[in-house]
Amino acid sequence: MVIVPSRFFDDDIYLTVHSLPSLPLKKVEQTPLLYGTGEQERGSDGRLRIHADLVASSWFLLTRYEELMARSTSFDEHGRFIGKSSFAYKAGILDTPLIDRYGVLLRSWLRSCTEEAVSEPKPSYAAVNLTTDLDAPFFCRSIRSLVREILRATPLRKGSGYPLIALRSILGNAQNDPYFTFPILRDLRFQLQQFLSGECTVRQWLFIRSCLPHTKDCLYDRPQYSLHEGDLQYVLDYCRNQDIRIGLHVSYSAAGNATLLTRELSELQKEVSYPIQDIRYHYLRLPSRFSSEMTQAFAESGITDEWSPAYADVAGFRLGTSRPVRLMDPNDGMLHSLTLHPLTVMDCTMSDPAYMHLREEEALGYIERLAHSVRTHHGELNLLIHNHTLASPPALARMPNNYHRRLLRSLPRTLTGTSD
Ligand SMILES: [Zn+2]
Repeated sequence: MVIVPSRFFDDDIYLTVHSLPSLPLKKVEQTPLLYGTGEQERGSDGRLRIHADLVASSWFLLTRYEELMARSTSFDEHGRFIGKSSFAYKAGILDTPLIDRYGVLLRSWLRSCTEEAVSEPKPSYAAVNLTTDLDAPFFCRSIRSLVREILRATPLRKGSGYPLIALRSILGNAQNDPYFTFPILRDLRFQLQQFLSGECTVRQWLFIRSCLPHTKDCLYDRPQYSLHEGDLQYVLDYCRNQDIRIGLHVSYSAAGNATLLTRELSELQKEVSYPIQDIRYHYLRLPSRFSSEMTQAFAESGITDEWSPAYADVAGFRLGTSRPVRLMDPNDGMLHSLTLHPLTVMDCTMSDPAYMHLREEEALGYIERLAHSVRTHHGELNLLIHNHTLASPPALARMPNNYHRRLLRSLPRTLTGTSD
């Protein structure tokens, strides 16, 4: 079998505007194609010649190639590539793990060329990860927060404060705070594990910020919290006792700075007393390109896994696949040791009016479709649910359209395709 290359990788094309794919997309056996054509022919030597350039099409998606070529208007105020500017979104393929479907095609062509058995992976999740980013650990655990709620309750601030809940929280223990919702996700993990026993392991993760002095002046790194505080120690103990894995939530300030990032990592490691290998960027500020300084820092500090790949504004398969992949640099073709885990869905991507702004039942339907694709292709289902979005009453999270606590109740059946 021969895959006939398009001109994508040619010296006079690669990394020029001529290398970008165009619409409408061609198809090969009903599967959209970024490069090449759907033609197939069998030569006189019996070889199957496929004109669909699956290699270039996959490379474009896996390396986030277009981000290197994009204009500044394709990035938002946080420096993130905007999902709705992406080629995959415009082509209507963002919700399809295209590369996984290429795998199905390749295997079927191989079966037609060889006597050897080429089997399909059984539809099943390779793993399910319930992850939380600890942006706001507590609703009210200080006098300052209590005063904030009292002031907010005044008519001047439109009465949006909750002083009584704040007072109850401050007088109780950390686990009584409305943002201490980790047990809800732990119960969901147990439920899912029951449904999926024998299929895959369901894991729970907490990505924690280090809040070092370099983050103090950054509006987006608030609220600040200290890992040494008793309440945070309580959260860390809870994670230890409940088998919740810990990763570093890289601050907004450290996103593009290897030195600051490794400083944050070692601070967190000191508190948990074991090596941390996993990171996720706050605000999903995944760099469009990892500098050599950055990849070297990852290798030296033991960071092996990154969990941000998703667009903040629209959910889907940003890397074109539901499976974890090694980091590849489209500039020099280098394969790095860092593994990228596609983030399937983030809670606020569904609900935020600035993002997808879906109603609860629409969000559930969208998650169901993505999860079905992941399971069909034996991919990894990675969900991001912030602890504060599960607060009760939901208004405490101070985010519009917050239906996530209700939505969570439907998740076991939605993700496993089971009914009552
Ligand atoms: Zn965050």
